[in-house]
Amino acid sequence: MAAIARYRSTGRAATMVRMQPLNPATAIGSWHAHVYFDAATRDAAWALREQVARELAGRFEMGRFHEQPVGPHPMWSYQLAFAPEQFASIVGWLALNHGALDVFIHPNTDDALRDHRDSALWLGRSHTLILGALDA
Ligand code: ZN
Repeated sequence: MAAIARYRSTGRAATMVRMQPLNPATAIGSWHAHVYFDAATRDAAWALREQVARELAGRFEMGRFHEQPVGPHPMWSYQLAFAPEQFASIVGWLALNHGALDVFIHPNTDDALRDHRDSALWLGRSHTLILGALDA
């Protein structure tokens, strides 16, 4: 209980004091992996996209190739959406093959802010998201 009080007094995320753990089997409807890039890494991002489409065909849905920041994403990006059952194969493949590109990975539950702020995984470097964009 002392640890809980300490977290509350320092204003840390409420998810750190959860008494009942969330069950990923029921809470996570899907996952997103967002590949980040900019003008300098555009061609590498496009090459990875084509490779992903070939190697992981049928296991995910490919999103648009955004050559501008969209939503909470501070860089250009494209999205891979996949079912929880595909997590190991998709994330495993990206972990080994993302090269110099940074990839933001998050679950989709009923809480978008928690998904993007507290539950994020990163391949490569992490970036600061524009969390205010999630309120819209
Ligand atoms: Zn997403």
